Amino acid sequence: MGDNPATRQEDFLQKPPYRAADPAAFNKKLQGSCHCGRVKYWLNKDQPLNAKFCHCRGCQVMHGAPFQWAAIFHKEDMMFEKGAEDLVFYQSESRHLEHELPCKASCSHCRTPIMDEGRNMVLLFPTLIKFAGQKERDLFSVKCHIFYSQRVVDIPDGTPKWTGLDGEGKSKLLDDLP
Ligand SMILES: [Zn+2]
Ligand SMILES: [Zn+2]
Repeated sequence: MGDNPATRQEDFLQKPPYRAADPAAFNKKLQGSCHCGRVKYWLNKDQPLNAKFCHCRGCQVMHGAPFQWAAIFHKEDMMFEKGAEDLVFYQSESRHLEHELPCKASCSHCRTPIMDEGRNMVLLFPTLIKFAGQKERDLFSVKCHIFYSQRVVDIPDGTPKWTGLDGEGKSKLLDDLP
């Protein structure tokens, strides 16, 4: 890759989750796909590093849902079947449609949200995964709720409820039952 900024911008296509270091050796354990089926990805792990429900206003709006279910994986553990083909990106801070990290990726056809991509991690949305059964889905159970102070629904499931991000700065724990 050269020093040309236009070329550099496309460098991400050569790295996970768009391209695995060795695609033939990638252990395809779980598959996720968007509603129309154009976007498909594989995971080489049975379970995420962590899973949370995010109740922030941004997630409520961008997902058109009361809260967002996010499962965290290393980028190396995810592989898109066709790279970034059929994906569109959205940078919520600048509100640009560019692959500018951190950003959200969605299907360009059916607009299903696929993941929030950070620098080293992805927060993917497990509702897209085809689980073999309840046991497999349970491995994605959430360990906490974040931005619970912005919630539109109470979820007294016994897991920690943070006012902001989990364990960060001014974020406080809220009671499970209001
Ligand atoms: Zn789609
Ligand atoms: Zn959120």
